Amino acid sequence: MRRAIVLIGALIVGLLGVWGGVQALASTGFGQPGGLPVLPDDRASSGHARPFEVNGVVLVNARHPVAPEYVPELAEPHQLTPAAHRAYVAMVKAAKKAGRTIVWRVGYRSYDTQAEVLASSIETRGSYRAALAYTAEPGCSEHQLGLAVDIAAPKARGLAFADTQEFAWMREHAHEYGFILRYPDGKSDITGIAYEPWHYRYLGVDHARAFGPWSSLTLEEYLGGR
Ligand SMILES: [Zn+2]
Repeated sequence: MRRAIVLIGALIVGLLGVWGGVQALASTGFGQPGGLPVLPDDRASSGHARPFEVNGVVLVNARHPVAPEYVPELAEPHQLTPAAHRAYVAMVKAAKKAGRTIVWRVGYRSYDTQAEVLASSIETRGSYRAALAYTAEPGCSEHQLGLAVDIAAPKARGLAFADTQEFAWMREHAHEYGFILRYPDGKSDITGIAYEPWHYRYLGVDHARAFGPWSSLTLEEYLGGR
């Protein structure tokens, strides 16, 4: 009898656990970890026409999407907003002076392109969930804001970039130009995205300075969601 009660108890706990997981997935809308911080976002009625902002800082992640139609003003050739572009050019120039060659790979990416990138990522990584660890859903990518840039070293890209002098220079100095490493190692439960040593986000010098060199602080934590 006692054994039956224990079994029924375990079953109820198990079902509650599954229900909690379903609820967490439903609340994010995606297969991402349910641990993404919750910040009050009242843009749903406006269809997310404008990016979510906290204290003047734009935040886009799986919980705070932006509408498919949102396209920022962009500067060429790096396809970043004019302010981010100016800062990026100055940063690359300073790196070059220090003997480090930063290679630009991606700036702005449209909603539709993000959908294509996700589709090919699902193919490469074998599943939707595995793809989402690295690739945001369309509407949830900072690349649609024109405020994020993916970079590499001349002979190393992807995770291998983390082992280069260029990466070390970026970690030392990016904040001085207004950029932060957006998806630090060990913080995927907060950002919803795996470690990406190549992805930098423009915040402006005032905010990025608060992060400092070799920072592992996330934007979510900085903006108070955690
Ligand atoms: Zn990126």
